[in-house]
Amino acid sequence: MIPMSLAEIAQAVEGRLSDSADPEAIVTGGIEFDSRKAGPGGLFLAIPGEKVDGHTFAAKAAAQGALATIATEPIDTPAIYVDNGIDALTRLAKHVAAASDAIIIGVTGSNGKTSTKDIIGQVCADLGPTVATEGNFNNELGHPYTVCRVEPDTEYLVLELAARGLGHITQLCEIAPPKIGVVLNVGISHLDGFGDIETTAKAKSELPRYLNRYTGDVILNADDPRVKAMAEGLPDINDLYFGIDSENTDFFAENIDPGDGRHSFTLWTPEGSARVNLQFWGRHHVYNALAAAGVARQLGAKPDQIAASLSKAGRRSERRMDVFTRADGTTVIDDSYNANPASMGAALRALGQVPTEGRRIAVLGLMADLEEQSESCHRRVGEQAAEAGVDELIAVGDGTQYIIEGADAVASTTHVLDQPAAIELLRQRLRPGDTVLVKGSRYRTWDVADFLRPKED
Ligand code: ATP
Ligand code: MG
Repeated sequence: MIPMSLAEIAQAVEGRLSDSADPEAIVTGGIEFDSRKAGPGGLFLAIPGEKVDGHTFAAKAAAQGALATIATEPIDTPAIYVDNGIDALTRLAKHVAAASDAIIIGVTGSNGKTSTKDIIGQVCADLGPTVATEGNFNNELGHPYTVCRVEPDTEYLVLELAARGLGHITQLCEIAPPKIGVVLNVGISHLDGFGDIETTAKAKSELPRYLNRYTGDVILNADDPRVKAMAEGLPDINDLYFGIDSENTDFFAENIDPGDGRHSFTLWTPEGSARVNLQFWGRHHVYNALAAAGVARQLGAKPDQIAASLSKAGRRSERRMDVFTRADGTTVIDDSYNANPASMGAALRALGQVPTEGRRIAVLGLMADLEEQSESCHRRVGEQAAEAGVDELIAVGDGTQYIIEGADAVASTTHVLDQPAAIELLRQRLRPGDTVLVKGSRYRTWDVADFLRPKED
């Protein structure tokens, strides 16, 4: 965190310092809500959880060197008392963002926020000290927590902005105002819970609308009509576009070569072109990379430098297009983190593109929260599996029988009720050389993916 005194922090969070806290003590460490991480010179945030109450760890945090605990209950160690811990963290994040010179980059969209944020984070890190959202930690705790991780020398802060309702992106922007925004796409996605796609689009368009107020840059996917339209009526925004299929974009990919699933392409920016060899599987990552290229270019990077960073970036958050080959010669695509219609389509397409001597097997779980669209969306997944050349389809769990119904053209299909049954089937049928895609909403195929993953010694 940016160093500041306890008095300044207490004021920023609208809290009250306990008598035992030294107002002039300077916090040089970070703020942590997990007492195991609370360290010397830092702060501890006590959150009353469902199972454990953070306040019971305040003494431990103090013993580890934390200068104070932000608390809502009386404690015996130095404290900043507040009414609500998350509100306090949010206020602190706002204060830290205002005190920092870091350029803030916000990424939103229905699919690929985490993946793209990971790529942008790595590209930015090649340009200067960078802080980025860890994994998918973008909720009401994760967002301010990430902002508070900013250090005095941080030049770039990359934030995943998830919209959980109308007005939410605006709120996140007000905590840490982005200078550059990326909108990836608008699709049907579980968490949005907006009901219809136009409302989803409206929620995401809060990012360009916010940036318009401050003449920021927005990088929009020209291949998604709802995203492409987002800068309309915003006179003060600097709008830039990326795409594969659209004409006249600022950042585009030419001569795309699917390779082994890790695509190569010629990246064009307004300053010229350079060849990119991605470390990520699937054509959808070409989009994510183009968005990241747009950010890097706005930060002053030249095409060669951008291409080198994109070609080097390989770190991804877990269970997202994680491709590995097992000792028995089977290749596994673990994309089991989450699923919705667009990301299912993208993953199946990637499975179809991976060169394989053996069979293509898809183990697919439910796409949650699609409500009345569930049946048709799952049927469509079955069709997409056939289009991708899947040889064997295993649908796991209630609701996924519709995938099978849509998959007439797939040679072998089986519907199983749960993950142990799917694992048993794989035990019997998996052969060396096969390629297996595992995907479903949240935990619904995680056991299958873990079964396939080589055990760590
Ligand atoms: P969440 O809303 O769960 O946070 P997210 O927007 O952060 O999701 P990721 O976690 O990056 O998205 O990816 C979710 C799924 O979407 C993964 O299966 C990933 O492979 C796929 N995906 C990534 N980028 C794209 C994209 N541009 N278009 C479609 N699917 C994508
Ligand atoms: Mg995410």
